[in-house]
Amino acid sequence: MKTHPTSLITHKTDFQRALLGWYRANARALPWREAPSLYKTVVSEFMLQQTQVKTVLPYFARWLAEFPDFEALAAASEARVLKLWEGLGYYARARNLHRLAQAVAKLPEAPRTVTDWRELPGVGPYTAAAIVSIAFGDAAACVDGNVVRILARLMADGSKFRDSASAARELSPLAEALLPREAPGDHNQAMMELGATLCTKGNPPCPVCPVRGFCATGPRGDAKKFPRFDPKTTGRRTVVRVWCERNGKLLLHRAAAGARRLAELHELPTAEQAGLEAKTVARGQLLLRRTRAITRWQITESIHAWPKKIPARSSELAWVSPAKLEKASLSGPHRRWVREILAGGKNR
Ligand code: SF4
Repeated sequence: MKTHPTSLITHKTDFQRALLGWYRANARALPWREAPSLYKTVVSEFMLQQTQVKTVLPYFARWLAEFPDFEALAAASEARVLKLWEGLGYYARARNLHRLAQAVAKLPEAPRTVTDWRELPGVGPYTAAAIVSIAFGDAAACVDGNVVRILARLMADGSKFRDSASAARELSPLAEALLPREAPGDHNQAMMELGATLCTKGNPPCPVCPVRGFCATGPRGDAKKFPRFDPKTTGRRTVVRVWCERNGKLLLHRAAAGARRLAELHELPTAEQAGLEAKTVARGQLLLRRTRAITRWQITESIHAWPKKIPARSSELAWVSPAKLEKASLSGPHRRWVREILAGGKNR
């Protein structure tokens, strides 16, 4: 746990006032801020985890149109929930939000405290604090990657954090100390807005920052050196996938409902899932190769045509017609790859 700088705390009322004044004059008009409700707050906080606002906007609009409240979401099928989430990634969020709605819809009234919200699926400390402060005006500080960045820069905190989660834990006492009892939800949103629009990674525009006068790094021009993290070790992996068409249908793999990852989502099968050896499949025609980063892995996926029989007999393998392809839930990258290959992909 860190001690916080007395100067910032001594002037915290002026800091809060400067931040809030800037926020109220400059906050972006976002749909979950217009006619705010508990449900909109919860949905937006789930969608915004690991995802930028501009990506979330169309998903949020579609979601609210189809599931306007906890009850409507609770009554929906998981397949429909996943379909509306398709392309947003991190699908556990969609399943957790669905389960959360089912739990909340059964209660006589919505949970009120951070502790109660933490018991619901997918709600961590950040999300619980955001919900109770924004929806109920409770004094709970939100600390995510954006807020970590601001706090580390305000303090010129040179600690090397292991990762974003441990930095958030270490900087939480400072965030709590800076939180006003009046309108804590607006203060939290102001911090998020500052981190998203001004105190960004890279070179923040410190001369126009509303809290520059309270910042240890902005005025001296070295803000981008903070926060500091231990260098991550990145591993490399390769995955060989099979593109197999038969009678106009495409072979896809659909993870079982109870699977830890990607449950009920369709993907192009790996060689192993199709009962084939990766090195044999890799000798076939290369249709597409893409590299992406997932957590600490650099994963190169290559998709090869397989015109022969598929040896695997598995309930998780399905032949899907073009008409059903658009309706099936595919993970975002696989949807893109399938479209690219069907359109005559770059490496074809
Ligand atoms: Fe961030 Fe710069 Fe503002 Fe400091 S002055 S809080 S580094 S934008």
